[in-house]
Parts: sequence; C-alpha cells; structure tokens
Amino acid sequence: MQQPDKVYEPRRFEPAWAQWWIEQNLFRADANAPGPVFSMVIPPPNVTGSLHMGHMLDHTIMDAAARWHRMRGDNTLWLPGTDHAGIATQMVVERRLAEDGVTRHDLGREKFVERVWEWKRQYGGRIVEQMKAIGDSVDWTREAFTLSPELSGAVIEAFVTLHERGLIYRGTYMVNWCPRCHTALSDLETIHEDIEGSLWHIRYPVNGTDRFLTVATTRPETMLGDTAVAINARDPRYKDLHGHTVRLPLMNREIPIILDDLADPEFGSGVVKVTPAHDPNDLEAGKRHNLAHVKVIDENAQMTGEAGPYAGLDRFEARKRVVADLEKLGLLEKVVPYTVAISKCDRCKTIVEPLVSTQWFVRTKPLAENVLAAVEAGRIRFVPENWNATFFNWMRNIRDWCISRQLWWGHRIPAWHCAVCHEITVARSTPEACSHCGSHDITQDSDVLDTWFSSALWPFSTLGWPDQTVDLKKYYPTSVLITAYDIIFFWVARMMMMGIELAGDVPFREVHMHGLVRDKDKKKMSKTRGNTIDPLDINEKYGTDAVRMSLLMGTGAGTDITYTEERLTTARNFANKLWNAARLIFMTVGDAQAIPVEQPFPGTAEDRWFFTRINQTATLVASLFEQHRYNEVAQELWHLFWDDFCDWYLEIKKLRVEGNRDALLYSFSCILRFLHPLVPFVTEELWHRVDPAGGSIALSPYPAPGGRGYDGGDMELIQSVVTGGRTYRADQKLDKKLRLKGSFECPADRIEAAGRELPIIEKLANVSLQLKAGEVQRLVLQLPEADKSATRARLEKRREELTKLIAGIDAQFADEATLKRKPEHVVNALGQKRAAYMAELAQTEAALDAL
Ligand SMILES: [Zn+2]
Ligand SMILES: [Zn+2]
Repeated sequence: MQQPDKVYEPRRFEPAWAQWWIEQNLFRADANAPGPVFSMVIPPPNVTGSLHMGHMLDHTIMDAAARWHRMRGDNTLWLPGTDHAGIATQMVVERRLAEDGVTRHDLGREKFVERVWEWKRQYGGRIVEQMKAIGDSVDWTREAFTLSPELSGAVIEAFVTLHERGLIYRGTYMVNWCPRCHTALSDLETIHEDIEGSLWHIRYPVNGTDRFLTVATTRPETMLGDTAVAINARDPRYKDLHGHTVRLPLMNREIPIILDDLADPEFGSGVVKVTPAHDPNDLEAGKRHNLAHVKVIDENAQMTGEAGPYAGLDRFEARKRVVADLEKLGLLEKVVPYTVAISKCDRCKTIVEPLVSTQWFVRTKPLAENVLAAVEAGRIRFVPENWNATFFNWMRNIRDWCISRQLWWGHRIPAWHCAVCHEITVARSTPEACSHCGSHDITQDSDVLDTWFSSALWPFSTLGWPDQTVDLKKYYPTSVLITAYDIIFFWVARMMMMGIELAGDVPFREVHMHGLVRDKDKKKMSKTRGNTIDPLDINEKYGTDAVRMSLLMGTGAGTDITYTEERLTTARNFANKLWNAARLIFMTVGDAQAIPVEQPFPGTAEDRWFFTRINQTATLVASLFEQHRYNEVAQELWHLFWDDFCDWYLEIKKLRVEGNRDALLYSFSCILRFLHPLVPFVTEELWHRVDPAGGSIALSPYPAPGGRGYDGGDMELIQSVVTGGRTYRADQKLDKKLRLKGSFECPADRIEAAGRELPIIEKLANVSLQLKAGEVQRLVLQLPEADKSATRARLEKRREELTKLIAGIDAQFADEATLKRKPEHVVNALGQKRAAYMAELAQTEAALDAL
C-alpha cells in the first residue's frame, strides 16, 4: 500500500483518471462477450451546448448505473453522442455571420451548410470534452452524431419507410410560424404565455338592414382576411339573419353569415369572425363551409397585398391602424382589457404567427396506439409509475407531428417535386426522373427534418439500424432510458413510437425519470434568472466526486432537487473522510502488498459484525440499484462507511494489538468498490494506493449479494456498553477526557466474551470497569467525587449562558417591525437556534439535578 497524500485535493488526480479511463479504453463494450446485457444511450446533448447542472445530474445517475452494471459483470454498453440541433446551431452560425453583415442567403445553401460544419468541427466538441472531464464511463469508440453519414442513412430509411406505410404525409395545415426564424415550429417548440392584451369589439354592418353584428377579437388585424362571420343556428337573436351577408369594414368585401357551432350563443354576442388563413379553428370551419382563404399576413409577419391599404405594414403596426380606422368609422363598439394566451418561439422569443402552409407530417395516432399498448402490457415500465397517467393522457390526445423545418442545417427531406406533373417522388437515393411522369425536371424539397426526428431514432440508429448489425442484435432494446422528466413528450414518447414501428420492438425496457435541479428557493435554474450554477466551477472547487455525491444524495425518482452549497460541503466532507480513513489504514497495514479477493475468515467480533454488514448491504444495494433508487443507494452507503466503518470498525481495529490486517484491507476494499459507481475518482485513486499493482477498480467485482451473516453478539455487547457509557457522559455533560469508573454486570453466558472485549470497551468509552456476573446486563458509572464540584460549576455557567442567549432571541422576535424585514430563511434559522438552546438548557438542568 502507498501512503495517500496528507490532504485530500481531488483536482490533483481527477483529470488524470478521467484521461486514463479513456486511454485504457476501459468502457468499450464487446458485443461478442458473454454475460447479461446492460445497454443505455445518452440523451444526445446539442452540439451548441455546454454542460449545465441538469446534465450533471443526468450523467451522474447514468454513470452510476453503468459503473454498477459493469462491476457486477454485465456486458455493459453506454453509448454517447451529440445532436446536430437544427435551429439552435443554425442560429449560432447566422449570428456570427451577421457580425460581418452577411446573411445565409448571401452565401447560398451549400456554402452556408459548409460553414456550419466548420463551426461544428471547431466548437461543437466542447460538450464532448466536458463529458470526458466529468468521467462519463461511456464507450467513446461508438460516439455518434445525428448528422453523421451513418445516422443520416437511418433517417432517410425511416422517412421513406414511414412514407411507404402511409405514416408520413404532406398537408396544408395551420402551423406555428416563427417570422424571425422563418420556420414552422412544433407545439413543443413554442412557449405559452399569458399577457395583458385587449379584446376589441367590432361592428360589421348587415347588408340590406340597418343592423350590425358585433364580433370580438384579440387580433383585429386579422379581420382584413375574414371570409365569413358565424352565428349559431340555435341562437334566437339572429334567426332572421340566416342567409344574409355582412359588409367587411375597411375592406368593403361582402362576406356570408354562416351557421356553425364555432359560434357559442352563451358567449358574448354569439357572433364570431371567420379567418380561415389565420386561425386553426377558423381553418376547420372554412373547410366545412368551403370558404376562401385570404392571407393577409406573410412569412415575415408583414401585411400582404390582400390587406389593401395596410399592405407592407408590420402586423402590430397594422393592428394600430386598423383599430384607429375602425374608431373613425364608428365601428369600434368597445375595447376591454383581456388576458391573451400567446405563443412565442422557444429559440428567439418572437411571437408566433399561426399561418397556413404546406408541411410534412407524421401521422401519430396509429403510432401512439402501439406505444399505449406496449406500456399497458408492461413492455415499458415508467419509474416512478405516477407518470403513467400524464403519459397516457398526452398520447391519447396527440396531434400529428409537423416534421418539416424551413432550415438548411439538418437532414434534407428525401422528396423531389416534379415541375411537369407536380407530383412528388420520395426515394432512398436521388432519383433520375419523376416516378409519376418520367420527367427529369425535378428538384429536391428544400426543407429539412425536425431535429427531434433523428433523435427519435437514436436508440437504434446508433446501433447500426437499418442494418441488422451485431450491436443491434445484442444491445437493442436498450435496458433503460434515464432522463429528466421535462423531455418526456419531446423525445421519450417519439422514440417509443419510432422504435416499435421501425425497429420492431420498444426502444427501452424502462424509463427512469429524475427531477430537475432547482435553486435554494426551489426556482428552476435559468440563465435569464441568473441563478445557474456552472457544474465545471463547482467540480473545480469541490471535486467532481463531491458534486456527484451531493446530487445523488438529493435525487429521488421524479422529484426535483433543491441545490445549495451546504450539500456540496457535506459531500466534500464525505470524500475527505474516505481519504483520511485510507491514511489511517495505511498506518495499520502500511506494508501490505495486495487486497484479499475473497472474504477472509472473520477472526474478531468486529470482523464478524462488519462482514455481516457488508453482505447485508450488498443485497440491499443491488435491489436499490435495480429499482433506480439512487438516493437510497447513496444514503445506505454513506451510513455504512461513516457510521459503521469509521465510527466502529476502524476505531476498534486501531485498538487491536493483534490486528487482522487482511480483514481490514478486505473491508476497506469493499467500501471502495461499493462507492465506486457514486464517487469514481477518489475510489480509483485510493484503489491504486491500496494495491499499486492492480488494475482499475471500475473493472473489479462489485460486492455480491447473497453473502452469509455471522454471529454479531460480541459486537452488540461492545456497542451496547460503549454507547451506554457515551450516553451517560453526554447526559452528564462530562468532558470526553475524563475517565469514568464503574461496574459492568453481565449474565453468565456473556461473561467470557465481556472479559475478552473489556480492554476495547474501556478504551472506546474511556472508562475503567469492574466486571461482575449478574442476572441482567447492567452498566453503572460514577463520577469521581473530586470532579463533582468542577462539573457543577461548569454546568451552572453554561445554564446562565443559555438563558441569556434565549432571552436575546426572544427580544428579536418581540421586535416585529425589524423581524418583518428579515428574509424568511433568517427568521427560520433563528427559530431553530432557539429550539436547540432550549433543548440544551433542559439537558443541562437534568444533569445538574442528577449531580
Ligand atoms: Zn424564432
Ligand atoms: Zn412528374
């Protein structure tokens, strides 16, 4: 064994081990190797990204799971990679170009895409480097990228197959359009917000009468594109107007009054305007009544030529003018304040404009039905299960998925438009001619696919699909998906749909959803709030192991974790204690050469007890890992090391003259192996100190469940007497150094053991005991007469201090004005302090009484 350095300084060894693991190729999976399979894919982070606390939590849990499976002998594959992140990456490069006054249109498609690749080569590796630095035990030889030639091939195959099966279609629908990014967005790519807006009530004159119909709208500029107004057939107020028309103000167009359930007689005037080109519900109504589409807002959110005098204006400027003009004409009945639900582009925060356009869609209903059936049949299990209800609800109400994006960075849609017959040819490779009329005048669709389309294929595209590779056969379906719950619909549900449809089986057997990392006030961490913690900073400051341990201790399945510096300090103390334990052990077994592989014969009371604890813990921890209860794994092992190993086992071992070195080394090696999946760096470092000739701890066997229990009676005897002595000392508030005298009565059947362990007991409890035979076990301690008065004086002094401290706090509580201005956590802390002083005061008084 080599002596560990005096001080635990994690940053002195963490980067080196991270590097060594990669160089040694320790985590490369061998598809031909035997053993049960454990496979898992990383949720691919965006190439534009850098590591945040959410990743840190996610990767820590995944890494712990992968390391545990590997150590217990499973054929373990944890596959890494990144996502090309269509819109995000394109925007980063566009912003750079804008600094030089260049737009992507200046460059043209091909050159622009080449620029993005250049950017990716130069900067896109940052998150990968960070994953390497935090020690992710992934198989780097299988690193994947969603836009690589291999994965792009899978994307084309998936698109064409789904198209052949009638699961992809082209359709004209209302989409969320971002006028800034110039692309359609899925519902999931928009943010919903309630803002204070207005509800404008506008009068439409009914032709051939002197009546008006009043409609209310939050977007008055869209009235320019109205092609009808609707009333409800059952509404008695308008019975006489069936078949009439109204004159559309400002535009002077005659439009029909239609009868449609879109108009609710219970709501307002019971009349609604119908703008099929700019509202999804109106679009449906328009289809029912065969209404014209008048598009008055274009892709730049500017008014079109159809908007008459307002053509060319920005939509919000047009809104102002329309309202002013209506007012002039006396057609604005009233304006009332109104909370408006708006959608913004998730990327650039521009207000989304609903526009009708032609896009590609995935028909999700039949795919979702297969997913529901798979979950219901237990082929995929959610952990925690309380996600089922939300998931089912969403899947049952799923809308078709708009997969085309008007971007350049991404997988270009494998569809060719014919200039002659206007039909579309979908093909796996560039066709020579139109498959309908044979014309050579064909051009490829200019759109690319939604980034999430390629991520939906990730669990099988990364394993070689559509080829039936060895990897695919061995590692698909993957064992588990570990992710935060916030991307369940974006990604998890879509992988399930695609996996079942294309790869013929569910993509994973289990989905473990963990929570989000929140700040101390339980707020979500975000750059705009300024409450983010950079994981790399705290890794540097506290060590990666401490960060990992603090996250694992705090994470419960599906529940969020509130993150504070205190958590980190505590976790660092833990790693530090592990270090110091190793130093103590070195002092005992300094010249030992190797770690015993098998459990040695437990020669002493503490060995029998601690080996039992090891064997119990191995069984418990295996079951906790299997159930993804990572916080309980961490708590269990914390307890085993801190309370059992350090406070009892190691304390006793230090006192044994005839120490069993093998037992101590073996126990410590179990501690290191138990903890390795949680704190891989410090355990690897100490493993090599304990056994400099050995290999990596990451490939050593995890303590196996099923070991035997030994008779722990002698150890229980030691613990009960020592605890009794310590309790007496604490109750009496006596100095630790003060040696107490007393007697220990012990039943006849235990007296031999008590005699044997008496020196240990006396040292641990700092007592001198007279051993006697008795009916029951009984410990009697006395305070030496000479110490009584000194003790009394000390206790009385403390009583006085405590009384003053409590009075001081009470005075602060009495001052309500000042108290109100203090933050809640300060007031809470004060209350807690008072409670602690009160408890100590009660103890002190009890001790004085006993004297
Ligand atoms: Zn946008
Ligand atoms: Zn054709």
